[in-house]
Amino acid sequence: MHRVVRRRRSLAYLIVCLGFFATWCSLTLLILYLQDSLFPPGNFQHKFERQYDRPNFQVVVGHYNGNLPEEKKRNLTVEELNANGYEPRESWGEGGDGVQLSDAEQTKANELFPINQFNIYVSDGISVNRRLPDVRKLACHNISYPALLPTTSVIIVYHNEAFSTLVRTVMSVVNRSPRHLLSEVILVDDFSDREFLKRPVLDAVLKKLPVYVKVIRAKERVGLIRARLMGAQEASGDVLTFLDSHCECTIGWLEPLLARIKENRKAVVCPIIDIINDHTFQYQKGIELFRGGFNWNLQFRWYSMPTAMAKNHLVHLTKPIESPTMAGGLFSIDRRYFEELGEYDSGMNIWGGENLEISFRIWQCGGRVEILPCSHVGHIFRKSSPHDFPGKSSGKILNGNLLRAAEVWMDDWKYFFYKIAPQALHMRRSEDVSERVELRKKLVCKDFGWYLQNVFVDHFLPTPVDRFGRVTAAGVCLSWQIATGSSIRQPTTAVNCSEAAFTKTQLWLWTADGRIRTDEHLCLSATPTLQADGAWTVQLKECAGFDIEYWRFSPKIGRFEHQKSGLCLAAPELLNASKDELKPPEMSSCRSRETTQKWTLNEVEWRSTE
Ligand code: UDP
Ligand code: MN
Repeated sequence: MHRVVRRRRSLAYLIVCLGFFATWCSLTLLILYLQDSLFPPGNFQHKFERQYDRPNFQVVVGHYNGNLPEEKKRNLTVEELNANGYEPRESWGEGGDGVQLSDAEQTKANELFPINQFNIYVSDGISVNRRLPDVRKLACHNISYPALLPTTSVIIVYHNEAFSTLVRTVMSVVNRSPRHLLSEVILVDDFSDREFLKRPVLDAVLKKLPVYVKVIRAKERVGLIRARLMGAQEASGDVLTFLDSHCECTIGWLEPLLARIKENRKAVVCPIIDIINDHTFQYQKGIELFRGGFNWNLQFRWYSMPTAMAKNHLVHLTKPIESPTMAGGLFSIDRRYFEELGEYDSGMNIWGGENLEISFRIWQCGGRVEILPCSHVGHIFRKSSPHDFPGKSSGKILNGNLLRAAEVWMDDWKYFFYKIAPQALHMRRSEDVSERVELRKKLVCKDFGWYLQNVFVDHFLPTPVDRFGRVTAAGVCLSWQIATGSSIRQPTTAVNCSEAAFTKTQLWLWTADGRIRTDEHLCLSATPTLQADGAWTVQLKECAGFDIEYWRFSPKIGRFEHQKSGLCLAAPELLNASKDELKPPEMSSCRSRETTQKWTLNEVEWRSTE
């Protein structure tokens, strides 16, 4: 009797255990599945990009204009620019909450917004010591870090940063870093002219802090790259940690960064960059399933990580995430490794390109760029830059920096960049990169082809085995649109071909693995229509390796047969040929001798400046 009860009990126990296990398995599978279907990669990124996009930045490199249009600046007096309005209000922004303004306050806030391109009125009402939520995953809470970690110098460069955001950045470092790990905080003022940043005001505030804050002031405008170099010169910590001047560090941000560098001194590590809303200053948790990449114009971009990597990440939530590039503003690097690696390219001016350059250099010369999911730091992402770009236009300055990165690190792919950004090609002769080429030789670095094959494995640059060019049928070109506003994802369209202009929205890669890819990590895909009537629609989605992205191309007949549906890609009839009426291509049953299904690949040479 006793034995029967015991046996039954064990059986019941086993069933419960099995039940738990089965539920766990199905939940994991469900999450993986839902992740794909609830957030199809295109939409997923789309949501994210709304936060991160800077529309004037994304379209063409040369269009980034840091100089504010005059009408936006018109109402700002010298007094307004130099005023320090910091006056914390009871509970504003506490716990990372956003601030909602009354109509009258909003009017005032709108007037001041262009000074910094974020809501300074709200920032000034939030304590520089505001509390923030702990946004880390639960799994991060249980990690115990080695008692002995390297120390760090935190370097913050700024040009005309607002008082409240700058001091809040410093306070968040001081309040949320273990004291013994912080060697010092170094502020580098890149020739600001605001009164409240001058020695008598700012230094007096900083003197009261329990941590040594050193302020260095540049004697002329040097730009963020050379300003960071000035900061690095003064640093004494084992590790250099760079932050933008409008960040907020959250609890536990520093330990993962330092512990990883202790483990591997050639790991250059970034926190997850959360979003401080530029209007409300709400602290918004960033998404972990992205990593850094770049588009054909060499603009930094966040893209979903490859599916296999994402699945692996969901199992190892606290492990470093390899990232082909870093965003640039927030990272830690071993101080001596930074020196060995050639610091930064001091030939780069003001803003931009340095993040790609250092990322290529790190990877190609034996290091790694990683995002550490247990370290969270907020950053105010702005939609446009408030800085002036002295001397040259912002486009010229940025292109000068980008071409330096391309010339030194990208081998043949530099010609591809010049194809996409011919304005950079014209500036080629005026940049001397010989010193950096020497550095590459000295460090015995791998080539860019290796980087694409081993690091940016889901890249979308042409390779020798892909076919790159225009895809045409029945007199129309397969093309896609960059929408005005913040979204780049638009249904694919067919337009009259313009062979004369090198329009990147008409250029595609027919890849060796059977995908039709284009810029911005996008893949030509086809999905069943919502009506479920057997019809399929052509869409442009972020490439994720799903079966809806694969096609079979038979060059002889010129047909693109969609692997999943068995249907063929067909050009629509143009509504009005002369007006370039845009219509998406269609999916129809494959028929031989159907002219709309007969596609030609007009290859474009990209490996030369011709
Ligand atoms: N910065 C600087 N000198 C410049 C331009 C920018 O010191 O000529 C600083 C700026 O104050 C900020 C950092 O460099 O702390 C990055 O610039 P920004 O935040 O404008 O770039 P974003 O984060 O928008 O890419
Ligand atoms: Mn910034």
